[in-house]
Amino acid sequence: MAQLRARSLDEPEAQLNAPYPETPHKESLLMHEPPTPTLELAPDEISQRKRFLDFGAQDIEALKTLGRKLDGEAGFFVEDFYAHLLAFPETARFLEGDGRLERLKQTQLAYFRSLLAGDYGREYVRERLRIGATHDGAGLEPQWYLGAHRKYLALMLPRIWGAAGSVDDPAFSAVQALLKIVFFDMGLAIDAYIYSNEQSIRHQTAQLAALNMVAIAISSSLGLQDVLAKIMQQGIELTGAKAACVAFYDQDNGTFREWHTQGLSDRFVDHMSFRPGGLADEAFKTGSPILSNDRPGAAHPLSRLAREEGLQCFLCLPLTSRDYPMGVLYFYRCDRDTFLGGEISLLTIFASLAAGAIHNARLHAQTQDMATTDPLTALYNRRALDARLECEILRSQRYGKPFSLMMLDIDHFKQVNDTHGHAAGDAVLSQLGAILTRETRDVDVVARYGGEEFVVTLPETTIEPTRQVAERIRKKVAETPFVLPHETTVHITVSIGLACFPDAAAGTAEEILGRADRALYISKHLGRNRVSTLA
Ligand code: GH3
Ligand code: MG
Ligand code: MG
Repeated sequence: MAQLRARSLDEPEAQLNAPYPETPHKESLLMHEPPTPTLELAPDEISQRKRFLDFGAQDIEALKTLGRKLDGEAGFFVEDFYAHLLAFPETARFLEGDGRLERLKQTQLAYFRSLLAGDYGREYVRERLRIGATHDGAGLEPQWYLGAHRKYLALMLPRIWGAAGSVDDPAFSAVQALLKIVFFDMGLAIDAYIYSNEQSIRHQTAQLAALNMVAIAISSSLGLQDVLAKIMQQGIELTGAKAACVAFYDQDNGTFREWHTQGLSDRFVDHMSFRPGGLADEAFKTGSPILSNDRPGAAHPLSRLAREEGLQCFLCLPLTSRDYPMGVLYFYRCDRDTFLGGEISLLTIFASLAAGAIHNARLHAQTQDMATTDPLTALYNRRALDARLECEILRSQRYGKPFSLMMLDIDHFKQVNDTHGHAAGDAVLSQLGAILTRETRDVDVVARYGGEEFVVTLPETTIEPTRQVAERIRKKVAETPFVLPHETTVHITVSIGLACFPDAAAGTAEEILGRADRALYISKHLGRNRVSTLA
């Protein structure tokens, strides 16, 4: 049960006077919940409650008559009541403070009058709910609230009974006892309501904490593959699903082109398809989660493939980052055939966290690319080459393996530009980049070193095999017609200089590049279209 919150019943004063007091202690627990709407009963509901209590015109008359009779002695209702409250530290603490008790007594008197005034319509109900919410906000628990109401009855009944002439009648004691046990039972029922409410708040708080952990986990790395693996893993753990899938939508083609899975069989993955107008397409385009299962009348029954995989249901959620839809996220279950409403809300938040992490990873990859890639040829740029060269030297030193380097420059490239234009020159550079990539191994690093100069590093390769590769490239370039933008072609040749590491004369990246450059100069000097090394 909730602990007593030390705030007095009439504090703050403004809250008592405000039409609908807030209950801030509850709101702060659930940051994602919208502010609680004010409790109000519709006229129909008020009438129905009265019918259920058999509360009719004769009751109203009886209460009004009682009100007229007791009005002169209303003080008993107030004095005895507060004497009772003051006897318990749990309730007495709400009465402390200058003049507070006197103010509350006035409110109490007003309540006594309204209770016997005969008007129990919408205004009456609204006022009772307002007072109830204020008491709840102040931290008065229902058990004390119910006890107070029992006390009202206990104070009133002897007066009524006394007027009838026989307070000592055993029937009077029976009525009193009955009221007590009934109120006791009501208290227990309210306990049960509150308990379940607290359980659901606790559950939601735990889920929020889990989501927080998820957000930290999936944004802890910047590599896209890593982020995707973590998203699927964390989502599976969060929901107890068996498997997950992330599928990306390609805006240019209007289809899903790339997907990643976790926990699904190879057979299932091989047969996965994302047809236009299908379930993923619908989730993606409507921006709403879609559940697929085999319940009778299900809008999206499972496929045969899904049944054979042992799946009972799956949920497909849109992945949207900053209003930009990027794809969908699936979770597959084998243990039951649905996702509960709370799970779907949780996974919807999860999907937006996931989309944010994917967005960041993509941005990071783009920035990395821009920093290391030459945009015209898509080869490494000089900066990336420098870094790779340092690594190559360290590796060579550690493992005692040599590596070679090839520097290549287009012959009379200026003429290509002068004759065919700069765009034609660009086309030649780009095609030459492609030839270099094709003619070298995956472990070789091809970089655009400057304008029309390229460098290739060949790990674990001595100078002789490097010369063979260089010759092959030289010949290939010389015999290739390079296609220009206006469909004409041009032939070019390249001059190449080679260097090897380790070399008595080259211990640093700068020195080995210098040796390749000088070898290249020799090729130019000897008439171009050739491969040279320094003696
Ligand atoms: P050599 O045989 O002595 O190397 O003669 P070259 O004409 O190739 O040498 P030079 O260094 O005089 O000229 C290089 C030319 O490459 C000049 C420059 O305009 C051109 N160039 C450099 N970068 C680019 C580029 O990105 N695009 C185009 N189209 N041309 C470029
Ligand atoms: Mg040149
Ligand atoms: Mg040059």
